[in-house]
Amino acid sequence: MAETYDIEPTIEHYGCMVDFYGRAGQLRKAYNFVVQMPVPPNAVIWRTLLGACSFLGDIEMAEQVNKRLSELDPDNCGDHVLLSSIYTFAGKWKDVAMVRRSMAEKDMKKIPGWSMIEIDKVMYSFVAGDKQNEITEEAYNKLSEIMLKLKVKGGYIPEVGSVLHDIEEEEKEDTVSKHSEKLAVAFGMARLCKGSTIRIVKNLRVCKDCHSFMKLISKVYGLEIVVTAVNVPSILIEELNDTVLCNRRSGPGTIKTIIERLSIGSPKRSKAAMKALRETIRGEQLC
Ligand SMILES: [Zn+2]
Repeated sequence: MAETYDIEPTIEHYGCMVDFYGRAGQLRKAYNFVVQMPVPPNAVIWRTLLGACSFLGDIEMAEQVNKRLSELDPDNCGDHVLLSSIYTFAGKWKDVAMVRRSMAEKDMKKIPGWSMIEIDKVMYSFVAGDKQNEITEEAYNKLSEIMLKLKVKGGYIPEVGSVLHDIEEEEKEDTVSKHSEKLAVAFGMARLCKGSTIRIVKNLRVCKDCHSFMKLISKVYGLEIVVTAVNVPSILIEELNDTVLCNRRSGPGTIKTIIERLSIGSPKRSKAAMKALRETIRGEQLC
């Protein structure tokens, strides 16, 4: 990169490499790359690797990576949730309980997942397991219709490994079926014109089931779907959630405040988030 393009790699470029290796299932290569990086790996790099461990279900490496993360960023709720989901997937309920105890001791609360979609210059936000109002009712109705079609025509079987509770399979299916991005995509399909690209912004990583669900919708309905998980600094999450809730009540325009707040909070880390939000929203009230 430095020789051909005269670009000095930054930590974000190294992060992309770790992500590539992880997505290609090359965990050992990803780990070796991290420990040999010329710049010291930060929590984001280790977290990317933890995400790959979660995707591939590698408990041994996840524990190794988690040790580094607990030194660099011990109070990050997302890391605990990710580790917990890895144990859940492997059915290691004692370890799940241990992580949850540690979260309770540190007074950590699981960040609620939300997704946003813009329709006719209005931003709509959905929270996982959202209580019913007119908007969510429309989303739920469309979602059950989509679920049925995907099961019949696409052979969709819900992937419930990410559910963090030792509960019955049926309840797990019910939990994953209410994830915020599913509600947002269903709402978009109910409201947008046929053939429109559906763009969704989410605050957390998309789970395995939602990922397959989106791919299947795209195939069965012939739709283009773009889901962007924005990297929002954790310190702003609570404030952002308040703003999103406020946005739901007050209609369009509030999203601009979100971007401004992100920008004040941490310009560097929120750059990607702002770009994604801008690209997704593209309303005239912005920028
Ligand atoms: Zn999901």
